[in-house]
Amino acid sequence: MILFFAFLSIFTSHAQIIKQPIPDKLVVLTFDDAPASHYTIVAPMLMEYGFGGTFFVCEFQPNYSDSTLYMNWRQIQELDKMGFEIANHTHTHSNVSKLSQAEFNHQLTYIESKCDSLGIPKPTNFAYPGYGLNAQSLAFLGEKEYVFARAGGSRVYDPVKDHPFLIPSWATDETNKAEIMKAFNQAEDGKIVVLTIHGVPDIEHPWVNTLPELFKGYLQYLKENDFTVISMRELEDFIDVNVAKRLIKPDFSKKLSN
Ligand SMILES: [Zn+2]
Repeated sequence: MILFFAFLSIFTSHAQIIKQPIPDKLVVLTFDDAPASHYTIVAPMLMEYGFGGTFFVCEFQPNYSDSTLYMNWRQIQELDKMGFEIANHTHTHSNVSKLSQAEFNHQLTYIESKCDSLGIPKPTNFAYPGYGLNAQSLAFLGEKEYVFARAGGSRVYDPVKDHPFLIPSWATDETNKAEIMKAFNQAEDGKIVVLTIHGVPDIEHPWVNTLPELFKGYLQYLKENDFTVISMRELEDFIDVNVAKRLIKPDFSKKLSN
């Protein structure tokens, strides 16, 4: 009998969190740090394949103003006009686990104001720079009414187990093609694969480089195998985030960085 009620309560919370069934082969593509190649290479390729994506932008220090390395705000505005999601990665790529609430708010508000001045919708999703996070950063994000926050961890996102402020992802680089291909197979049974992608290529941070050929190969594979490729904000169609935040306790014992 106890087992039955335990099962019933798991079943009920599952049903409350999931608004509509999550299809197999659901992939969320996220792009970090606003390198120039996101505008010149990634966005045109995503358009060609008809895929969605989320761009977590910041003004990466110290070379943000070098337009050969990073997108400028007009280009970020163009991405929004093309239908992609612009989301928040802090003003200066700051490790938010080390910030006071006032400093964190300042970091978030800078990007929000920039977006507002360019007619870009207010960012609702966040990615932790350098995967720096703690319980306090989750509380600050909650106060600022963010919806989802992406971490690392190299594992699949289970919306009935992972807190919406601790969404796990795999990061692509030059060396882990086999791991990423294996990851795609895990987008089944209600679980979602989220990728973190830096520059394609990444000139300033070669350790997170993804070559355009490799990136195109991933898109081609996803297309040929009928994957659905969306931005992070589109997850709200499937997940009741407020219920998830109420029912799921953030688990910091799991791996959360890449
Ligand atoms: Zn970053």
